[in-house]
Amino acid sequence: MLLTMQIHHDKHHGAYVENLNKALADADPMIQQTSLDHLLTTLDELPEKIRTAVRNNGGGHYNHSLFWPMLRKNQGGTPSGDVAKAIDDSFGSYSTFQQQFSDAATKVFGSGWTWLVADGSKLKIVSTPNQDIPISNCIAPEVPMLGIDVWEHSYYLKYQNRRPEYVTAFWNLINWDFVNERYARLR
Ligand code: MN
Repeated sequence: MLLTMQIHHDKHHGAYVENLNKALADADPMIQQTSLDHLLTTLDELPEKIRTAVRNNGGGHYNHSLFWPMLRKNQGGTPSGDVAKAIDDSFGSYSTFQQQFSDAATKVFGSGWTWLVADGSKLKIVSTPNQDIPISNCIAPEVPMLGIDVWEHSYYLKYQNRRPEYVTAFWNLINWDFVNERYARLR
């Protein structure tokens, strides 16, 4: 998995950053100084000329920046702390959550992501196409806690077309401490 992750990080994530910077290079200084979260949650206000580039490459940068700290080698196991309780409260049990999340990730058509998001005190599973981010507006009632990249570039080198095997391996890579930190910051 290491080489797969290395190429994913250096080449794919790197390209999103490079292309976002290119898209913003000639933009209004006001836009250049706006935070990425804000740009991505107010895409309609951007000039049409850069809107798609910011959506795709800014979204790619945003999503991957979240993704890497969610992972840690040889972690996995079951979550602890408040997140464990919130998962039980929202899904009934950890194994039900795992099953629903894996199912959603396996069923994403084409490229995209599956997320565990906090919607108030309730956790839920959502999928986003392409590099769309799991936050719909500035007030951001939904906050991503955990996500899995199911673009082919994230698993093809090691698993070829076998996305379900990659999704299974993902459960052993989750940094639950980070997920707990994000959850704690919401409360
Ligand atoms: Mn990716």
